[in-house]
Amino acid sequence: MDSPESVVYERRVAARFASFDQDGNGWIDREDFSTAAAHLLAEFGITARCDKGQALYGGAEALWQGLAGIADVDGDQRVTRQEFVGGTLKRLRDRTSGFTEIARPFLHAAFAVADTAGVGTVSVADAERALRAFGVSPKVAGEVAVALDGDGDGRVTEPDAVAAFAAYFTTLP
Ligand code: CA
Ligand code: CA
Repeated sequence: MDSPESVVYERRVAARFASFDQDGNGWIDREDFSTAAAHLLAEFGITARCDKGQALYGGAEALWQGLAGIADVDGDQRVTRQEFVGGTLKRLRDRTSGFTEIARPFLHAAFAVADTAGVGTVSVADAERALRAFGVSPKVAGEVAVALDGDGDGRVTEPDAVAAFAAYFTTLP
């Protein structure tokens, strides 16, 4: 029988897999990243053709390539649940700084999309919108957005968002 610890671990791994598998078809591939980009742009009413849209799609492609390099063991351009569970998170954790660099262009572009006031930070409300656009449940999105605002001034900074993103995918019990 599984220990409670391993049940918690597997649940967390499943949650992270689901975060990447944006279209929920059971594997992670390039489509999931372009889907995520499209959802975010739609939420904020930004076209794919403009500079912000192009930057987001470019970042999404780089993030997919980076994840595939780490996780697509058999090279079929899909990361299956088996490939993901079988070591992806461990490798992400071992390469936390590398993963942060892989994700940075996407996060930078996503941040620019959500920075509706154009002031270099994102309001907690817009951070929540962005998280919901990425499929995070409304309840969790609200909690995370508030937690991202570490100093409680109602704004989220890009370094805090990048650190939280990396921590989510590289920190497990
Ligand atoms: Ca998918
Ligand atoms: Ca594969």
